[in-house]
Amino acid sequence: MDDADYMRIAIEQSTKGDWPYGAVIVKEGAILVKGFNTSTRDRDPTAHAEVNVIRAAFRTIPGLSLTGCTLYTSSESCPMCTGAFLWAGVSRVVFGASIQQLTDVGQPQIDTSSQSIIRTAFGEVELTGGVLAEEALEVVRGWRKQVIDVAQIGKVYAQLDPPIWLVTAADGGRRGGFIATTVAQASIVDLMPRQLITVNKRHHTHELIEASGAFAMHLIDETQLELIWRFGLQSGRDVDKLAGLTFHAGATGSPLLADAVA
Ligand SMILES: [Zn+2]
Repeated sequence: MDDADYMRIAIEQSTKGDWPYGAVIVKEGAILVKGFNTSTRDRDPTAHAEVNVIRAAFRTIPGLSLTGCTLYTSSESCPMCTGAFLWAGVSRVVFGASIQQLTDVGQPQIDTSSQSIIRTAFGEVELTGGVLAEEALEVVRGWRKQVIDVAQIGKVYAQLDPPIWLVTAADGGRRGGFIATTVAQASIVDLMPRQLITVNKRHHTHELIEASGAFAMHLIDETQLELIWRFGLQSGRDVDKLAGLTFHAGATGSPLLADAVA
């Protein structure tokens, strides 16, 4: 395996990140750890890919130094991560896209190169940049497009201001959900709240509702527009739309989203 091979793994990790960054630590040709940015899911703005893999690496080896290790990171490290790999004693760092390239595609950065910080520090770190930079940038561009699309969806829904209902169902190991396009109030009696929902028969979730005889409904609010992207724009046949969200089994056995409004 060469630099490009390890970088490809770091880039592959970057596709899983909350922000589009991934990293791998390699020691004597073997992958010690790999990881990605988890800032959103951990509610930790310091959970950059490099910090995550450095912390994970120390859970696999004794001592307080990663000397002899190479850190591969899909994008040039920010000052915080450069500080982290300097303190960790990493011998070599290889990055894909540069801070300048990230800035050029609109991704906000602290405008200080990794090299300029290394220069001020003790010890020696060999730095190599630009390995598969274009592939790394492609992931960043794709991530940005998705974020922008979610913002667009938000703008449209803010104009219409409809209540948005997420419908989920599960059958055995299969689970899925969709954003209901038609929900009508079918009762004006508070004690007997009834709603009419239309489900397209070709929908994957329709199969699950038929098979399990049950479903769950969730009212979602404007802070949960990411759910529209997740449930509205892909097919449950291809992906597990519920992956990474917190669900528990509701009264009907269908998955209930933990933080739905109702
Ligand atoms: Zn960083």
